[in-house]
Amino acid sequence: MTQHDAWEIVIGLEVHAQLKTDSKIFSRESTAFGAEPNQHVNEVCAGLPGVLPVLNKRAVELAMRAGFALGCDVHRDSRFDRKNYFYPDLPKGYQISQLFHPICTGGAVTYVLDGEERTCRLTRIHMEEDAGKSTHRGDASLVDLNRAGIPLIEIVSEPELRSPAEAAAYLKALRNLLRALNVCDGNMEQGSFRCDANVSVRRPGEPLGTRAELKNINSFRFIQRAIEYEANRQIDLIESGGAVVQETRLYNSDTGRTASMRSKEEAHDYRYFPDPDLPPLRIDEAWYNATRDSLPELPHQRRQRYQRDLGLSLYDADNLTAAPPLSDYFEAVLALFSENPKNTANWILNTLLAHTPNPDAEPPPIPPQHLADLLRLIHAGDLNHQLARQVFDLMLTTHRDPTTIIDAEGLRPVRDTAGLEALIHTIIDENPAQVAQYREGKDKLFSFFMGQLMKKTQGKADANLARDTMTRLLKGE
Ligand code: ADP
Ligand code: MG
Repeated sequence: MTQHDAWEIVIGLEVHAQLKTDSKIFSRESTAFGAEPNQHVNEVCAGLPGVLPVLNKRAVELAMRAGFALGCDVHRDSRFDRKNYFYPDLPKGYQISQLFHPICTGGAVTYVLDGEERTCRLTRIHMEEDAGKSTHRGDASLVDLNRAGIPLIEIVSEPELRSPAEAAAYLKALRNLLRALNVCDGNMEQGSFRCDANVSVRRPGEPLGTRAELKNINSFRFIQRAIEYEANRQIDLIESGGAVVQETRLYNSDTGRTASMRSKEEAHDYRYFPDPDLPPLRIDEAWYNATRDSLPELPHQRRQRYQRDLGLSLYDADNLTAAPPLSDYFEAVLALFSENPKNTANWILNTLLAHTPNPDAEPPPIPPQHLADLLRLIHAGDLNHQLARQVFDLMLTTHRDPTTIIDAEGLRPVRDTAGLEALIHTIIDENPAQVAQYREGKDKLFSFFMGQLMKKTQGKADANLARDTMTRLLKGE
């Protein structure tokens, strides 16, 4: 046991998710990604004097959707506040956010860790606008306001996560859920899904320790490394007689270390006050109910259904529901062929996934109909395992459906008993020593004989018929 095992890591996450709207949260300006700097900036984004914000209805609906899906209390009344600070990429001098009356409180994220389902509770979800982006080049600082006014929700967890791996599992599940809901595209490189990690350490049973906040880490791998590094830094500091100070730290992915950026601000440093330009947000009952009732089946609900109704393992069910393209693919195949879903899951996870370059973003390269056809042929006994693999490989390369391939290549199983009997007799004549051993009880040799038969039939022997005939003839019947 290392000394670090005597410590518990405590993590709370703040996720900023960009809402999938066409226009910004308080104006009609476009949210399109990838434009030249400052191409998507109007008077409101630039914070010119005299302009007034108008709240984007779609952004509210998406925030509600996220809240309902996460089991939050979604409030029909909420408000917007000004968070005041000075920075060149914030032209108004304040960010519009929700401090005192957020749109959602409570709720939880459900995820799988170490073979079991867990949850981490949420404190709140609030809506806010993004700031612009500063780039520093030598003495100059360049400001791009394309992101200014992009609608965000911030999802704040309770400090209930206990390891870097658990933080990653939470984040993956949350990102998957928001994508399945069509609330956020989850693109981490483009900054649509970003995370700040609050990290502290304590000896088990002690009250919470002082936390450091790690800013804007943009990959699952980095988040784990950053938390790991930071927890070890704090433990070493405390064990050598020091104390953790509450501060904001930046993770450097090149060095794998975190470094102090600034001391942590408290809410009063931001001089929050209700934004006088925006009336309180009031969601009418019909809209509220309609949004709540329009949720699709959620990834964790799907996972639970696969375990309960289809008999899949937690592991397989979790893998099949880990990303919307794969999850929707499995659903599409099931809708076309519902027999033996375990076998369908195996084919997808063990065979097809290896040929899917980016399952997080794209569905597998075979149309659901073709895979369903293949599975039906296997189920009906029209293809043995070897033949099915041959057909599958040709489906990948030719993009044709299995029946066309079977017809074109003559890949039908040999089901002619007399033909198989003749071949088996030849095998028995060719291998007298093995036959004698088998008949004395060396059962393992059975697969040797089957192997010989498959060789002679180029893998086309109908598996059941071949097994029965082989057993019969080896017994000398
Ligand atoms: P702020 O917005 O100023 O960062 P919050 O009180 O909203 O402050 O907390 C932000 C996050 O910090 C939450 O996710 C919470 O779970 C987490 N957190 C609070 N205290 C601790 C702690 N002692 N250790 C780890 N995380 C913590
Ligand atoms: Mg924070």
